[in-house]
Amino acid sequence: MKRLLRLTANQHETLRRHLFPGDGKEAVALARCGRRSGESEHVLMAHEVFLVPHSDCRVREPDCVYWPPAVGHELYDRAAAKSMGILKIHSHPAGFDRFSHLDDQSDKELFQSLHSWTDDGLPHASAVMLPDGKMFGRFVGPSGEFHLIDRISVIGDHIRLFDREQNRAIDDAQLRTAQAFGDQTTLLLKRLRVAVVGCSGTGSWVIEQLVRLGVGQLVIVDPDVVERKNLNRIVNSNLSQAERKASKVAALAAALRAHGTGTEITPLEGLLFDEGIAKAVAGCDVVFGCMDKFEGRDRLNRLAVFYLLAYIDLGVRLDADGKGGIDNVCGAVHYLLPDGSSLLSRGCYSSETLRVEALLRTDPAQYKAELDEGYIKGAKVDSPAVISVNGFCASMAVNELLARLHPYRENRLEDERFHSFDLRNCDWTQREEGAACKLLAKKAGRGDMTPFLDCITDV
Ligand SMILES: [Zn+2]
Repeated sequence: MKRLLRLTANQHETLRRHLFPGDGKEAVALARCGRRSGESEHVLMAHEVFLVPHSDCRVREPDCVYWPPAVGHELYDRAAAKSMGILKIHSHPAGFDRFSHLDDQSDKELFQSLHSWTDDGLPHASAVMLPDGKMFGRFVGPSGEFHLIDRISVIGDHIRLFDREQNRAIDDAQLRTAQAFGDQTTLLLKRLRVAVVGCSGTGSWVIEQLVRLGVGQLVIVDPDVVERKNLNRIVNSNLSQAERKASKVAALAAALRAHGTGTEITPLEGLLFDEGIAKAVAGCDVVFGCMDKFEGRDRLNRLAVFYLLAYIDLGVRLDADGKGGIDNVCGAVHYLLPDGSSLLSRGCYSSETLRVEALLRTDPAQYKAELDEGYIKGAKVDSPAVISVNGFCASMAVNELLARLHPYRENRLEDERFHSFDLRNCDWTQREEGAACKLLAKKAGRGDMTPFLDCITDV
C-alpha cells in the first residue's frame, strides 16, 4: 500500500509562516483533507487549513507543543460529514527529522478520538515540517497503527516532492553535487508519475520526450485508434497499426517500451469521463492535457483541482483562409495550479462551448436538431495539423515541466503560467492569467465524492 499526501504551495506557505513564527518554538495546525481511495494506494489532499492559535496552546517549547484538540471540533465535524481525513501538522524548529516519543504518544491519543469521530475506517495523517520547508509524515489507521507516508507533494509554481525512499536512497552529498539538467533532473524525473491525456498530434510528441527524459511512470489516455489520416502527425505510429486499427495507446506503449528507457507505461483506452480512467490519472503528480476538445480539457482541469495535480495544457490552432493561405499558426501552453485560475477563467472557452460539445457526445440527435434549427454553432471539427507546429508546442510544454521541477528561468515563475506563440509573427509572449477561478479554486483538494467531481450531468 502506497501512502501519499498533497498540498498546494499556498497551503504550504500558510502553514510554514504559522509553524515558524520566529520564536524557535513548536506550533501546530490542522487540515481537512480530501481522499483518493484505492486498493493499492491512498492519497490525502489538503482542502481546508486550520491554524491552531499559538495563544491556545498550553505549552509551546522548542521541542514540544501541547494544545487542546477541542479547538478543531468544527473541522472534525465537517470532515466526518463528508468522509474526509484530518491532517495534524507541527513544526520541529531544531530540525529533528523523525517523530519523537512525545509525538507517538500525542498522535495515538488524538487519532484514537478522531477515528471514533469519523468512524469510516479510513486513515488520518500526522506530519512534521522542518525549518527549510521539508516535510515527512505518517498515516494513522483506525487501530492506532502508524505507516510512514511515501510521498508528500507540494504543488505550486515549483513542484516539490518529499519522498521517504529518496531520503534513504540518496544522501545529501550526492544531492548537493547532482547537477540540474544532469543527474539531478534524471533522478527527479525517475521518481515522477505523469499522465498524458490525448495521444495524437501534440500528445505523442510530449510522450516521446517524457520517455526519453526518463520519467519513471507514464499513464497515457486516448479513446481512438490509429488511422491513415493521422500518420502525418503521430510520433511512433506506422502503416501497419493503421491497417489493423490498433488503439493509439496500445500502439504507442509498444513502441515506447522498445525504446528501452525503463519508463513504466500504463495505456488506458477511453475518455476521462470514465471514472476508473480519471482516478488513474488522479494518481499522478503531473498531467499534460493534449486534447482538441474543450470539454476534455475542462474535465482534466477539474480533475487536477479536485486531486491537487499540476496541470500543463497545450493547444495548437491553425486556421486556413480557404484560398490556399493561412490566417493563424498559433498555440498556447498553460500551467495551471489547483487553487489558481482555470482554462475557463482564462477565457480559453465558454460554458456554452462546453454545453455544445457535451451535447454532441451524449445526444447526437438533439445536437443535430439544435444545429439545424440554428440554436447552436457547430462544435469544432478536425482542423489541419502540421507535425512541426505540434512539435514546437509540445517542446514548450515539456520545457515548462522542467522549469517547474528545476526553476532555471530569470523571470518569476508565477508570471509565466500562460505562454502563447504566434508563428506567423514569430512571437512568443507571456499572458495575463487573471484571478483564481471563482468556480473551481474552492474545490481544490476535495477528492473523492458523489457525484464524482461534483458533476451531476455526466453521462
Ligand atoms: Zn514533534
